[in-house]
Amino acid sequence: MTDKPIFVTQPFLPPLDEFTPYLEEIWDSKILTNGGHMHQRFERALCDYLKVEHISLFNNGTIALLAALQELRVTGEVITTPYSFVATSHSLLWKGVKPVFVDIDPCTFNLDPARVEAAITPQTTAIMPVHCYGNPCDIEAIQFIADTYNLKIIYDAAHAFGVESGGESILNAGDLSVLSFHATKVFTTFEGGAVVCADAKSKKRLDYIKNFGFENDVSVVSPGINGKMSEINAAMGLLQLKYIDQIIARRKEIDLIYREQLSGIKGVNIPRGQLGVVDNYSYFPILVEGDFRMTRDALHEMLVENNIYTRRYFYPLISEFSMYRGLPSSASSNLPNATDISRKILCLPIYPALSNDEVLHVVDMIRGC
Ligand SMILES: *Cc1c(COP(=O)(O)O)cnc(C)c1O
Repeated sequence: MTDKPIFVTQPFLPPLDEFTPYLEEIWDSKILTNGGHMHQRFERALCDYLKVEHISLFNNGTIALLAALQELRVTGEVITTPYSFVATSHSLLWKGVKPVFVDIDPCTFNLDPARVEAAITPQTTAIMPVHCYGNPCDIEAIQFIADTYNLKIIYDAAHAFGVESGGESILNAGDLSVLSFHATKVFTTFEGGAVVCADAKSKKRLDYIKNFGFENDVSVVSPGINGKMSEINAAMGLLQLKYIDQIIARRKEIDLIYREQLSGIKGVNIPRGQLGVVDNYSYFPILVEGDFRMTRDALHEMLVENNIYTRRYFYPLISEFSMYRGLPSSASSNLPNATDISRKILCLPIYPALSNDEVLHVVDMIRGC
């Protein structure tokens, strides 16, 4: 069993023959992109599944973030978290916007609303929080600050597919929410992304932005980009949607086994979920504390040597990369919680094809027996 590598994540692929009818339909239609039938069907199906009003599909989550910033005309400075995938802040740099990093809450790993106000300047136009590991941000507190200071909110919801809080999709929070359907995410279209918005006007403008700004064949209304999702990706989305409940249910089982089995191990701290949240079990993060029998990095190495690929996600912090390091808000003294967590974090393998035996094997290796 130890010969077979255990990856940190692996996409769920439905039986290949179930994809064939979709391909035949695309071949018959000769429409490969630009909002064809698959694209239209997938968009509607996603709105239903996610319980949101409007979605604009994109070719990936990063371009979707850029489009969201363009749609809201975000300029100047944006308050965001250093504890995320680098695409969050990169989207700001691509728009010529200055990221201002604010520390995270040590329990949720999300932007700490109590620290946001102090980072607001006359240049601040928006807040870009991340629902880290699909764990909902403090949506109400962030909205209150945004309303008080007249700021936009774009949620990087790349981890938050299907997550609900208090019976409602968290994708309805803020002005816009951005999803990623990359192969490493809970729900995948190979590559893909989307922007969730509340009104039809906003949806229409996002549709223009992803198609070079074309409003019709003779009118270009914004400096758009090519962010369109192809028919193949949309078809994969439609098929994947049939399996998503199964995918999440299996992830939940794995999450439960890890929680039970790891709970007694000294120095392994398992973050707890929030009450009233419908989780998607997209990640299984643990904190390797000082009283564990080895350092986090030594544990990571030992597991790699045993063909188990965990991920230090997120380490380093975004603020530690060279293009961000010089910003005043990147100082580690400004980001004590994020710095501390990034030194302790380890994300364990979790994906539908992972067997119970493999999960128990990972646990045994961590336990050291
Ligand atoms: C995956 C991810 C992205 C980028 O999405 P892509 O579809 O890979 O471009 C952005 N933000 C976060 C938090 C992510 O995890």
